[in-house]
Amino acid sequence: MPQDVASPAGQVAGTDLTLLLENLKTVLGMAHVLTDPADFAGRLVEDRGLYQGHALALIRPADTEQVSLAVRLCRAAGVAIVPQGGNTGLVGGGTPYGAVILSTERLNRIIDIDPLNATMTVGAGCVLANIQEAAAEADALFPLSLASEGSCQIGGNLATNAGGTAVLRYGNARELVLGIEAVLPDGRILSDLNGLRKNNMGYDLRNLFIGSEGTLGIITAAVLKLFPKPVRRATAMVACAGPYPALALYDKLRRENADTLSTFEYIDRFALQTVIRHAGCTDPMTEIHPAYCLVELTSANPADDLDARLETALAAAFEQEVISDAVIGTSEARKDALWRMREELSEAQKSEGASIKHDVAVPVSRVADFIETATAACKDYMPGLRPCPFGHFGDGNLHFNLTRPQDMEDATFLKEYPNFNRIVHDIVHEMGGSISAEHGIGQVKRAELKRYKDPVALAVMQQIKTTLDPDGLMNPGKLF
Ligand code: FAD
Repeated sequence: MPQDVASPAGQVAGTDLTLLLENLKTVLGMAHVLTDPADFAGRLVEDRGLYQGHALALIRPADTEQVSLAVRLCRAAGVAIVPQGGNTGLVGGGTPYGAVILSTERLNRIIDIDPLNATMTVGAGCVLANIQEAAAEADALFPLSLASEGSCQIGGNLATNAGGTAVLRYGNARELVLGIEAVLPDGRILSDLNGLRKNNMGYDLRNLFIGSEGTLGIITAAVLKLFPKPVRRATAMVACAGPYPALALYDKLRRENADTLSTFEYIDRFALQTVIRHAGCTDPMTEIHPAYCLVELTSANPADDLDARLETALAAAFEQEVISDAVIGTSEARKDALWRMREELSEAQKSEGASIKHDVAVPVSRVADFIETATAACKDYMPGLRPCPFGHFGDGNLHFNLTRPQDMEDATFLKEYPNFNRIVHDIVHEMGGSISAEHGIGQVKRAELKRYKDPVALAVMQQIKTTLDPDGLMNPGKLF
């Protein structure tokens, strides 16, 4: 458990803390400095309940100036800050241990939409779904899309460099940002809210903050890229004999439909069963198959007959014995029903008992090798184990989840976390992959980062951290 950060070695005396809280109330207003933990209990615990923290206070600044003042006050008092957006992160990155939680929820303004420049400037506290909606109202698309989009905030998305289901076509959060504004650990405001596609004026500081998980400062606003809104989509659930045929199908679709292929998600049969059993989804096919792929083509061109394109491609794949069966969504409702099978996976899996999760990436060319090798290795280690791999196959990113054997206690199974990490992460590393594809490092993967990251890269990261945050007050105990 990380060390308490408000009072390490008794650095901050009680009276100083009282003074800090008084000063914060003066700057932010009484209503926006909460000190009773009952008022922010949900902010003290990680989304899956893995970490329970405690905090001195939760503060809600209204704008960047207030964020800056609050940071200066905390720094002067030697009190750590944990930035929080929607607190939907899955690696314990937002859990505080005695710090002040700085919630960005009031930085929730869509500041500007520039349709000609295809950009949108937003406050860090905007909920992702609200950004998508505002873009749609402007007849555009902001493509970042995650199952948590109704509550996660863009600041949190950028701080974790979130991925999701549209990365294949549009890239992850990092690729969707042009400019950024952030408050540094000393309170200075780094202002780079540019909407430029080309900007070669030195180091790319924007990218320092994206993926920094709150350890280098607080992102307060960003300029996001917009795209033409798709008006056509063709969606199919495709059955195949396993990950190798899935990879062959992906390669075929990518070559023939690179301009429209937006989704290629893999679902193992056991994973699909969980949504049939626990989320009210209907088996899409009459026969049982080892693996399924949710495939979607989208286009902004109304003349694009995507259904015909997808049907032709799948018919050819069937002829070539790449796939075993396919169901094409014939109406918007049927397409949504196919998507539900993917969207409900994380939740439905919980009903099968404890699971050990790995959010990993390998080169796309190795993704089938990875599924086969890691599945065999994990099953060898624990007979009866129920591997549940699913996810962003087309990005080489899998949620390689392992559900406990049916007759094993949750707690007994979870004790095996380190052993399964070693098996899975060693295979990932050997294949030139990453032990964190989209969720980040937070607290969960700190030791793993140390083990697998290039030591020089890790040392440079540490040097950057020390330069910007010499007192270690910005989200301590995370990442490193
Ligand atoms: P928080 O959880 O509040 O914070 C996450 C981290 O960022 C913390 O370290 C925090 O300190 C830091 N932080 C937050 N705001 C700021 C800021 N303004 N400045 C600096 N640091 C900040 N993630 C994916 O990538 N892809 C998925 O497909 C996906 N699916 C999910 C599905 C579900 C059901 C759930 C619960 C989560 C999923 N996630 C996914 C994880 C999570 O939603 C993302 O990590 C999301 O981007 C976090 O946003 P948030 O606002 O909730 O951030």
